[in-house]
Amino acid sequence: MDSNFVDYVKIYCRSGKGGRGSMHLRHVKYQPNGGPDGGDGGKGGSVILRGNHNYWTLLHLKYQRHVFAENGGNGGRDKCHGTDGKDIYIDVPCGTVVYNAETGKYVCDVTYDGQEVMLLKGGRGGLGNWQFRTATRQTPRFAQPGEPMQEMTVILELKLLADVGLVGFPNAGKSTLLSALSSARPKIANYPFTTLEPSLGIVSYRDNKSFVMADIPGIIEGASEGKGLGLRFLRHIERNSLLLFMVPGDTDDIKHDYEVLLNELKKFNPEMLDKHRVLAVTKSDLLDDELIEMLRETLPTDLPVVFISSVTGYGLDELKDVLWEELNSESNKLQEITAEDTLVHRDKDMQKLTTELHDEGEDEVLFVDEDEVEDADDDELDDYETFDPDEEKA
Ligand code: GDP
Ligand code: MG
Repeated sequence: MDSNFVDYVKIYCRSGKGGRGSMHLRHVKYQPNGGPDGGDGGKGGSVILRGNHNYWTLLHLKYQRHVFAENGGNGGRDKCHGTDGKDIYIDVPCGTVVYNAETGKYVCDVTYDGQEVMLLKGGRGGLGNWQFRTATRQTPRFAQPGEPMQEMTVILELKLLADVGLVGFPNAGKSTLLSALSSARPKIANYPFTTLEPSLGIVSYRDNKSFVMADIPGIIEGASEGKGLGLRFLRHIERNSLLLFMVPGDTDDIKHDYEVLLNELKKFNPEMLDKHRVLAVTKSDLLDDELIEMLRETLPTDLPVVFISSVTGYGLDELKDVLWEELNSESNKLQEITAEDTLVHRDKDMQKLTTELHDEGEDEVLFVDEDEVEDADDDELDDYETFDPDEEKA
């Protein structure tokens, strides 16, 4: 489906590896045995997710296949510290859920503007041989390698964090209601599936208060079994804190339609029934007062019911009152979202490495032959110190 609404992307992410520490012995005129002076490597850049309320979809990431943070620079002689790799931020809309694409496991949630979640931590830089000098080991001929990069292919999935989700069959008048209450301009037409993409609107209420309403494409009977388009979009209402059911007033059996909708939701995710619900009988301009009174007797009694007409504006203020009241009622606590601690950091590995280094001496991490460095002329040294870690890998 070619659409500007992108709610699912897959990106390969990689943090930068730490630069390696330099193994260098100072060797200049009049100071032939100047001692160790190899500097530390810089740290690798991290990959960080950041909530940004200016984004409503993942469209800006649609063609982004990879995200690479910079590697840390290697340490140099003269105690020269390698440059730190730049962190990379991936801006995502609030309501983005992150999964590991390989394991399918939940990784984290980004729920509010400005929230930063460390997805992949950059590797720490290795220590230069200068750091390992001691009274008894004045010329340590080893340095520490940088910590490795981390990589993960992530799936970013958008779950709209609306306050009110509209639930109804196609043509129930959902898009029209959203247009009437907010400045959102969803497509409106008199045939099923006019809404192929959810749209959000901000509904202003008295005294500068507001709430977010999401128009979700029509649910048809059997949507939870994969019929029609409903299912793909149903996930957007999982998080809505209140559901507004919409059934047109000229429907034969309003209560029955409401129950079918309810059943579809239950099949999809039984927790949906824990949400507060309101029923709007739409297109009430097609009914006369007498009929409305008659219908009232036949309606479900387990939730507030409001007769509305988005065309004439009838009942819209009452509807907003009811929605606001339900949204703010004691029992309707917003779902608390906690990012599970599923991120794997490699700090532990790094500690192990350092311990080995101290326990077992230089052999573990020796990677530069001292003679090689001393014999090399300056040009070669420069080459060595600025080598590109990516090339090394290839
Ligand atoms: P959706 O599929 O639920 O988004 O329904 P739409 O908002 O696209 O509306 C479907 C049809 O119902 C359109 O032709 C609208 O003009 C019409 N409609 C929506 N609301 C009302 C209403 O309050 N009164 C009347 N008479 N028609 C309406
Ligand atoms: Mg619509």
